[in-house]
Amino acid sequence: RRKEQKNTSLKFEDLLKPNEIKEFLDQYVIGQDDAKRYMSVAVYNHYKRLLHASGEASEVELDKSNILLVGPTGTGKTLMARTIAKLLNVPFTIVDATVLTEAGYVGEDVESILSRLLQVASYDVELAQRGIVFIDEIDKIARKSDNPSLTRDVSGEGVQQALLKILEGTVVNVPPQGGRKHPEQQFVQVDTRAMGYGRMNADSVDRNNLMQYLMPQDLKSFGLIPELVGRLPVLTYMEPLGREALRSILTQPKNAIIKQYEKLFEMDGVKLVFDDEVLDYIVDKAIEYRLGARGLRSICEAIMMDTMFDIPSSGERCFEVTLPYAREKFEKKKFLALKQVG
Ligand code: ADP
Repeated sequence: RRKEQKNTSLKFEDLLKPNEIKEFLDQYVIGQDDAKRYMSVAVYNHYKRLLHASGEASEVELDKSNILLVGPTGTGKTLMARTIAKLLNVPFTIVDATVLTEAGYVGEDVESILSRLLQVASYDVELAQRGIVFIDEIDKIARKSDNPSLTRDVSGEGVQQALLKILEGTVVNVPPQGGRKHPEQQFVQVDTRAMGYGRMNADSVDRNNLMQYLMPQDLKSFGLIPELVGRLPVLTYMEPLGREALRSILTQPKNAIIKQYEKLFEMDGVKLVFDDEVLDYIVDKAIEYRLGARGLRSICEAIMMDTMFDIPSSGERCFEVTLPYAREKFEKKKFLALKQVG
């Protein structure tokens, strides 16, 4: 490590240890202990890899590890990846796998993923190379069948092959503005060897708790090509959130929904108080309508909209949200609320 280091801020002594990384995650993500532990170790190793790569040549090359997050929708997969990006202070981008197609077909080239990361990093290639790419709905690019068919599967296997190149760690020519590659266009070369990928599987695999026993080989039968599965050694499962967890999500995280409303009201000089039974009611409704954590905010919005409209000009200094009030507002607005979620 005597060799000059570009990133002087990165020193082994300064690295956050896995338990410290988890403590940070705990501030934002409720539950999901196993996933948080996996993630913490993966991040720690990712940092070590960066240090290693910037140090002297060594016989041992540390492979990068991509992470596959699997679990029902609304369990905090995106939140987890975002929180990690916040902790690491690296550029972060979310890509929806369903818009990706093989180069030359309608849709976006896989390289466009890196264009976005470059944009987020304000075209600082060094920074982009440390970034995190979160590929959403990767299960949607499963190949259509196990048999190579006569018609090309441009959104399935072809995309997986292209993704594989990026995951393996390679230098990719990236069109800086995104979009299609043109022969006359200037490319930016991005080395993907250090980049981290959080990735996720959404609702199509939401079958109760069976998922926690998922093994890499199961992904093959699910339509992911073996090479890609081989590149996803860290597989972690996000649990469905129960009543307790939903209740905690309302009030506990650093940026919990209820804290946000209190803050908004405080700016108008109004003290906002939620009765405990209102919080239980919100959780009940989220469960009743099968909205999970994703629905908590919409339900709160439905309850709070009228008072958020009225209170700033009312001159009042305190507002208490009672159960009858919450019930009345939600009953009135529930269809709207459900539409927003859908
Ligand atoms: P996913 O990516 O798994 O579909 P998200 O991370 O987008 O779910 O979560 C949806 C919403 O629910 C977000 O507003 C997020 O803050 C909240 N949420 C979900 N899971 C958790 C959790 N475990 N802890 C705290 N908030 C959560």
